[in-house]
Amino acid sequence: MADAVEGEASQPFPWQLGVYDAHCHPTDTMSTIPSIPDMKARILTVMATRAEDQELVAQTADKFGVKSRTPDSWSQEECIVPCFGWHPWFTHQMFDVEDFDGKETLDQDSKILHYQTVLSPKRDRLSDEERQAFASLPDPEPFSQFLEQTRSYLERYPLALVGEVGLDRSFRIPETWIPGHDKRDESLTPGGREGRRLSPYRVDIKHQKKLFKAQLQLAGELQRAVSVHGVQAHGVVFETLQETWKGYEKKVLSKREKKKQTEAAKSSNRQGVLDADERQDSPKPFPPRICLHSYSGNPDAFKQYLNPAIPAEIYASFSTAINLSDKQDASAPSALEQLIKLIPDDRILVESDLHIAGPRMDEHLEDMVRRLCKIKGWSLNDGVEQLGSNWRMFVFGRIQDRS
Ligand SMILES: [Zn+2]
Repeated sequence: MADAVEGEASQPFPWQLGVYDAHCHPTDTMSTIPSIPDMKARILTVMATRAEDQELVAQTADKFGVKSRTPDSWSQEECIVPCFGWHPWFTHQMFDVEDFDGKETLDQDSKILHYQTVLSPKRDRLSDEERQAFASLPDPEPFSQFLEQTRSYLERYPLALVGEVGLDRSFRIPETWIPGHDKRDESLTPGGREGRRLSPYRVDIKHQKKLFKAQLQLAGELQRAVSVHGVQAHGVVFETLQETWKGYEKKVLSKREKKKQTEAAKSSNRQGVLDADERQDSPKPFPPRICLHSYSGNPDAFKQYLNPAIPAEIYASFSTAINLSDKQDASAPSALEQLIKLIPDDRILVESDLHIAGPRMDEHLEDMVRRLCKIKGWSLNDGVEQLGSNWRMFVFGRIQDRS
């Protein structure tokens, strides 16, 4: 046994079959962007998260975005798929104009009131120190403006997805940089955590949910797939998704009904009623395909996503950086192993979630692909091909069959 495992570990990795990173943040380190065409990974799915990186993702797409759904026609320079969205860690930086009588900009008092409302722990009265802390946070922007901006990016890039969006109960917002005191790393795109001290404040989950849901609906309207972040919020992520597809659940057919339908489809020489339905790219209130990125819920919680009535395709992707962050040895933790076995073969993806493109990203992808293959009992070739076909289905949908 040990020999077989070792034999596999030393097998050359079949990069030539195409490895696709389903979720990463290379625009956090812009100096590494020019290296993407020379990476071993074929395509990176590049997320946007906050005010500072939306336009950087667009610029990266102008240079390196794929121009068609047909991999055979891609040049080496076509090596990214852009994604636009607002990450839960930055949701406090947005406000709903309806909460402020339609005002599009907030004065200092309204700004402090906004932060007092969306941040917890909640305080009825703020100390001077707290007022100062809130005043030093970024000036919040109207969420409606951001949604319009995202819509125009999605229209400008017809192959772009929505991401990174989601819910997070565990993060705390970082403290503001103190000019002259803190030295930030100039090579990193501003706005991220960058080792700053964390404040005691979390963003109210109701506020996060409002923004998450609106972005899901935009994805549904434009029929784009979504990359979803969920940390310590797996229940409420599912609830929110479920709210978007309420009333659109698929009729679950019995075996007999299915057989009847297949026969009817054969005789009319069509692909089947459900298939025909899926092929309509008409706007809906929920996204057609959803990737639960670096999924960290337990296997039991994942089972609710296997309900055949769910009208969206649910994928889960795994990264060495997040899913194995506390586990450095070669064996995957058993809960993760159980989970991976539970996920249908055609719904699993691989990702790096790294903020820097280049060799380390390739190493992380290779590491996770090898683990997934081992757990799924796939040969490396079969695994890489399966994961590649899953990624293409997630990003482009069934529509790719037609182009
Ligand atoms: Zn991410």
